[in-house]
Amino acid sequence: MVEQFSTPLQEKWEDFLVKHGYDNKVKEIAGKYPDERSLYVKFEDIEHFDMELADSLLDTPSKTLKAGEAAIAGIAEMALTLEEGGKIHLRIKDIPQNLRVGIREIRSKNMSKYISVEGLVRKTSEVRPKVSRAAFRCLRCGHTTYILQSELALKEPLECAKTEEGGGGCGRAASSTKFIMVKELSSFIDTEKIEIQEEPEKLRAGAQPQSLTAYVEDDIAGTIFPGARVIINGILDSRPRTRDRQGQTTFDIFLNVSNIEFIDADAFDIEVSEEEMVQIKELSQDPNIIDLIRDSVSPTIYGLPLEKEALALQLFGGVPKHMPDGTRIRGDIHILMIGDPGTAKSQLLRYMADITPRGIYASGQSATAAGLTAAAVKDEWSEGRWTLEAGALVLADMGLACVDELDKMSPQDRSSMHEAMEQQTISVAKAGITATLSSRCAILGAANPKFGRFTDQEYIGDQINLPPTLLSRFDLIFPIKDLPDAEEDARMADHILQSHLVGEMRERQKATGGEGSTAEELEQLETLGKAMEPAIPPELLRKYVYVAKRAQFPLMTEEAMSALKSYYLEVRKIGERSEARAIPITARQLEAFVRVAEASARTRMSQTVSKDDAERAIKIVKEYLSRVIGQGGDELSWDSDSLYSVPASQQKRILALRRLMKELIKEDSSGFTKSELKDKAKDAGLTDDQIETIWEQMRKDGDFYQTGKRSGESLYKLTHAL
Ligand code: ADP
Ligand code: MG
Repeated sequence: MVEQFSTPLQEKWEDFLVKHGYDNKVKEIAGKYPDERSLYVKFEDIEHFDMELADSLLDTPSKTLKAGEAAIAGIAEMALTLEEGGKIHLRIKDIPQNLRVGIREIRSKNMSKYISVEGLVRKTSEVRPKVSRAAFRCLRCGHTTYILQSELALKEPLECAKTEEGGGGCGRAASSTKFIMVKELSSFIDTEKIEIQEEPEKLRAGAQPQSLTAYVEDDIAGTIFPGARVIINGILDSRPRTRDRQGQTTFDIFLNVSNIEFIDADAFDIEVSEEEMVQIKELSQDPNIIDLIRDSVSPTIYGLPLEKEALALQLFGGVPKHMPDGTRIRGDIHILMIGDPGTAKSQLLRYMADITPRGIYASGQSATAAGLTAAAVKDEWSEGRWTLEAGALVLADMGLACVDELDKMSPQDRSSMHEAMEQQTISVAKAGITATLSSRCAILGAANPKFGRFTDQEYIGDQINLPPTLLSRFDLIFPIKDLPDAEEDARMADHILQSHLVGEMRERQKATGGEGSTAEELEQLETLGKAMEPAIPPELLRKYVYVAKRAQFPLMTEEAMSALKSYYLEVRKIGERSEARAIPITARQLEAFVRVAEASARTRMSQTVSKDDAERAIKIVKEYLSRVIGQGGDELSWDSDSLYSVPASQQKRILALRRLMKELIKEDSSGFTKSELKDKAKDAGLTDDQIETIWEQMRKDGDFYQTGKRSGESLYKLTHAL
């Protein structure tokens, strides 16, 4: 047994542990060892005890923590375990905020220091064992030498050491014998590699988040998941950039984690001052508050009032509910904008991501393996292990995910999107990794129509390259058509040109300090600039939304409920009467009504959902449904199947045509020609266009096939004759 010497540093720790009552805790942990292996010490306690000890922890953390752990081992009387590579870890918690380092601020001066960083977990690897105390057998004499391992590279014995009493090994140097590692006699601990990145809300608009790799060891490995918000403390370490090339002078940095603290997912740390609280209160009393908020959504974009109103309500969202039966109903309002190119969709998405607390902008064609949802990957970073990587919807948990080019998402994302939108979780089960990640975020999607532009010839539902089941998960869908209209175009042109002029003037003023501009120009800038400014400054709006979401849980009033109910029943009844027996709206839309009405109440900081809120919801949902499933018409023409599946009328025509095909086959079992079918179908009242469309669709679906020819014309048979 190796003699244990106490260093002054270790004695200081012992002193500290006893004075601050940690010694009892240590004994308690020792009693439960190895089930419990960590002592958590508050940084503040160390500071109070001795500033020097606190400083030495920050400056020379390796040495200081080692001394602390030796002191703990002394109190726990576990020298034997210590020698075997086991120990009680000393983990420091509650590092004060002013000592925290931003991920992008980490510099060489932080090397080998104790630092505390805050971030969002993006990747976690599988937990795998690492040798902590390796046993080596000398092949010459068979003696076993133990070496404690604390570095990344395996440390081998330098010699097969003899002890002074003459015992031990043969005394040969490593060069004249060979050592093999004996796994059965070695000790291992768990390790995990993680990556954290800067939180979106802490970034300047448009900046890419930077990330930091960290290694987690032993009992705290495997405790975190991608999407978690954490503060991690640890020692900043480094290694040469490429492992195979020696003599490199640039180094990659990583953190050896000493402690992980979780930040509650609900706890936003947006600070609202008293003064701002007063402003927010005042704003909420304004009778036009909803209009003010609407006009604060991307004011440089002209028009789109209904869309902007919906986006304003999306900021607030409805109330998420936990039902008595254990189910959870989302409060987030999902919105999809499908529009012609160049209609400012991307611009709106970026603006929304900027003004929403925890807003993230991402593209459906995501560059990362995780895509929009999450994935298990094996790449260079993961060093041969499987890694769980979070995509945009997980990183935007408790916020807003703005997904551009949604129609271009990967097939893998397509399949996990349903779960992400409704249950607001994403499950991954692949290669030994099974996890369920949270994605409690609202989704604002943008997509282009299937054929690049909208046409009037087809149902809008047919022009979207997204499966109907996914479309039905959106509470609101806005088609944005770019149609020439002389008056509108003139106003839009004015708006765009003026906003550019304001931009030009501001740039000139910035560059010349006002000298290059005439008084007239400055005055013009003043008035024009005012018109382009958001009614509520973005910073204040963010805080307004934050306060409303945290504090407002409005309840439905009788009047609101009956307004929603009677509108719903009214529209359902129209479906019953209408000729096509189409289903105009479904229960899903009723839920959309509720969410939008709740959001409307929140914009006023109201504790109740009033009749007005219900009517606003009806107005928005009605307008959207009329555009999407009614071709702009009233409720009589609505047909929700035209969006979410094949339109009822179309379905009927397909059935009719099939019946005619069957009749023809009964008449002549060798098959039918297209012209024979057309004659019959026209007699039955179908138009040429309708017949062509259905013929094409049935052909694509493989409903009939060609069997041969009859007098130059192709002959067909039904695939399923029933
Ligand atoms: P999309 O994503 O719909 O294809 P973008 O957001 O990329 O379109 O917009 C293209 C450009 O046209 C942007 O610079 C935007 O500012 C401008 N633009 C389009 N519509 C409007 C509008 N209604 N008001 C102001 N600018 C507009
Ligand atoms: Mg775009």
